[in-house]
Amino acid sequence: MKALVVLETLKGKVREASHEALGFARELSDEVVGVLVGKEPERDVRGLERVYVFSDPRLDIPLSAPVAKVVEEVFRREGGKYVVLAATPFGKELGGRLAALFNAPILDDFTGYEDGLFVKGFYSNKVFAKIRIDGSPVILSPRPRAFKPSQDTREPEYVDLDLALDESLFAAHPVEVKEKSPEDIDVTEADIVVSGGRGMGSAENYQKWIPALKDALAKATGMKVAYGASRAAVDAGWVDHSHQVGQTGKTVSPLVYFAIGISGAIQHQAGMRTSKTIIAINKDPEAPIFGLADYGMVSKWEDVLPGLIEKLKGE
Ligand SMILES: Cc1cc2nc3c(=O)[nH]c(=O)nc-3n(C[C@H](O)[C@H](O)[C@H](O)COP(=O)(O)OP(=O)(O)OC[C@H]3O[C@@H](n4cnc5c(N)ncnc54)[C@H](O)[C@@H]3O)c2cc1C
Repeated sequence: MKALVVLETLKGKVREASHEALGFARELSDEVVGVLVGKEPERDVRGLERVYVFSDPRLDIPLSAPVAKVVEEVFRREGGKYVVLAATPFGKELGGRLAALFNAPILDDFTGYEDGLFVKGFYSNKVFAKIRIDGSPVILSPRPRAFKPSQDTREPEYVDLDLALDESLFAAHPVEVKEKSPEDIDVTEADIVVSGGRGMGSAENYQKWIPALKDALAKATGMKVAYGASRAAVDAGWVDHSHQVGQTGKTVSPLVYFAIGISGAIQHQAGMRTSKTIIAINKDPEAPIFGLADYGMVSKWEDVLPGLIEKLKGE
């Protein structure tokens, strides 16, 4: 059965979360067709039979209304049982549009697939349901980092799309884009997330010690490391909202999650509960985070972080 995969790009490059969505689609289907949309998307993706490419200078930043039109056109040509896209913020917006456009059922933010059933967390991941989804097509949107990127190396055939998209599709468009530095990895895409909370005490402490641990871990492990925060730290203005983890922030599933000076409120847990290993540093032995952590240090962070960073640096 055929799957269409939407390959989300940022600055011309296919995002890691889309490589994972592709890996999932390959598990599901014996024929996988891609939809690659952007300003000038790079044609270096592998593991698909065909990739339809639509380039438009107005799509430097992905916009869901025009991209939905492009996906609709590819679907008109190819058909398919599944439309797969990563549950990134953009993917969630696009998924809703596609479900409405195709009058199709949608399952988003699921984390597993076993014997034809999808696994999805509810109530802040306190329960996990196994879900069957019927219909054709169905829109499937896996959570970033829940599936492995495709290892398939086949070279796709690239097919250029020549579409005249109506200007009205670009009515909602960004007026300002704040660039992140290349080493500012998104929390949803990191192998390790180092998060700090109110317990860091001040903006100066947060901004000195959380990036310092992040950088030391990146150097020592060679992995992708990002820094995150509780809402209390974000509300205090210590760090940008794009780093917030939790119910009203981002949902992360890294290999390792550090919670430093974070109590572990249910709304924070909602965003990091599915991390593979959780390490908590908190001076309060009763902090709820210890109920979730695999490793916990009942300590002030001031007594742990300097030594830990030194050790990681090999000093
Ligand atoms: C609708 C709604 C949505 C929300 N969404 C989110 C969300 O997305 N993400 C989120 O995080 N929260 C969210 N919250 C807020 C949440 O309820 C908590 O208020 C918040 O997570 C608390 O942040 P914190 O753990 O940093 O602060 P606190 O709860 O104040 O905890 C600070 C911790 O630091 C410890 N500490 C203090 N000093 C030190 C030290 N020197 N060394 C070590 N430990 C120390 C303390 O023991 C304490 O456990 C939401 C709330 C609501 C109502």
